[in-house]
Amino acid sequence: MIHHPGNVFVVSAPSGAGKSTLAQRLVRTVPGLIFSISFTTRKPRPGEVDGQDYFFIDDERFDAMVREGGFVEWVQVYGHRYGTGRDWLNEMLATGLDVLLDIETTGALNLRRAIPDARMVFILPPSAASLEARLRSRGKDSEEQIGIRLKHARHEMELYHAYDYLVMNDDLELAYKHFESIVYATRASRERVAPAAQKILEGF
Ligand code: ADP
Ligand code: 5GP
Repeated sequence: MIHHPGNVFVVSAPSGAGKSTLAQRLVRTVPGLIFSISFTTRKPRPGEVDGQDYFFIDDERFDAMVREGGFVEWVQVYGHRYGTGRDWLNEMLATGLDVLLDIETTGALNLRRAIPDARMVFILPPSAASLEARLRSRGKDSEEQIGIRLKHARHEMELYHAYDYLVMNDDLELAYKHFESIVYATRASRERVAPAAQKILEGF
């Protein structure tokens, strides 16, 4: 049963599959869809803005939010903690906005338990070799980082079966079309539109 007017979309992928490329374009293009802003204990990178990229908080505040049940899900990755704020998410959904959560697989699986009607999207690279090539061509990570990400990629790939949609990111335009279609198809689903349909029916 859906209790909130907005939809929740989750997107995960092994690092380098093209998730950021696709997700940023989606949020730029589709009206009424926003990125979730997570809470994190990691320090801002140059150019990152508090309240825009993340809510940057310290360990004490994160602990307090965990105790108070303030997170829909949270995880520890790469030595830092990240979490989706319950109040923040509810506020956005109550206004009717759809929210896209860019979170890693463990958190995504926990979120699914908390919000069973979340639509979960996994971005697939065409092959292991192309993932490696994309990580290198992006030029953002050291050789050591690339090694760590590739190792982790296998673990993340194994979880693809827990997702509702698998978007193959080979041809970028086609992948984007699939991703965008998932949002519009969800908006047109019977569960979502039934109340409006019922009202129309009562007018006859
Ligand atoms: P992620 O967010 O999943 O780590 P990025 O969006 O940063 O991945 O993409 C990784 C690299 O691959 C970037 O350099 C991006 O431009 C490139 N890329 C993304 N999608 C494609 C595609 N379909 N074909 C070729 N290169 C791609
Ligand atoms: P980064 O430090 O590079 O911004 O993020 C590291 C990882 O944490 C990424 O895989 C990102 O998707 C994930 N992440 C960011 N916010 C959250 C969150 O709120 N919950 C979970 N589970 N993962 C998150």
